[in-house]
Amino acid sequence: MNAAAASVKCWFDAGIALVYPPVCQLCGEHRAAPQEGLVCSRCRAKVRYLQPPFCERCGLPCQGEITTPFSCANCRALDFHFRSARSAAAAGGVVLESMHRYKYQRAVWFEPFLADVFMREAVPGLRGQGWDLIVPVPLHPTKRREREFNQAERMAGYLSGATKIPLNKNLLRRVVPTRTQTLLTRQQRAANVRGAFAMRQGLRLRGQRVILVDDVFTTGATTDACARVLRAGGADEVCVWTVARGL
Ligand SMILES: [Zn+2]
Ligand SMILES: [Zn+2]
Repeated sequence: MNAAAASVKCWFDAGIALVYPPVCQLCGEHRAAPQEGLVCSRCRAKVRYLQPPFCERCGLPCQGEITTPFSCANCRALDFHFRSARSAAAAGGVVLESMHRYKYQRAVWFEPFLADVFMREAVPGLRGQGWDLIVPVPLHPTKRREREFNQAERMAGYLSGATKIPLNKNLLRRVVPTRTQTLLTRQQRAANVRGAFAMRQGLRLRGQRVILVDDVFTTGATTDACARVLRAGGADEVCVWTVARGL
């Protein structure tokens, strides 16, 4: 482990050790273990895992008995640079709350819970598909320094560990410090991230198939901007996996 990784690990362990007694950090009522992200079994049972059928492109779940591949109305009007996007759970309730506190309030003890939610769907979803590489959506260096960690990179690390697919967190970089996407429309989001990402200088892919990892999929603007750069940089194909998805 290098010095930077060791210091992050130390900081995570310290964050987790601060919470005592080990009570669920979402409901505050039931016991929960640190290795479960301090989320009790009742709160875990509230996670809304996404169920097929999905739009084959953006992963939007649809009602009904659809057995053939289909695209949603939105994807028929757009042309994403990724082949498909999938997410483990709906971005709401316990998942959204823990994700926000993890990202914005450094509630690092939620990490094992969020990683579990992600792994439960992504690991079987990717099995046997022959992907070569896992790449997280990067943060701009300024934001990365402020937050001290990149949540997409952390989740990508768990996925790499569970699937044994190599992780490359230095391939993409965020060259423009974009403003937060939260209050923007779909068109504004796309404009906001256009040109925000680049391959690290001197690096190119040679036909690899890449899994792009992010925390939340909303309109797909961010992941599409990254997929476009990866494809231009030599990736044969890109799929997206996120922990949560806006519906
Ligand atoms: Zn609870
Ligand atoms: Zn779609």
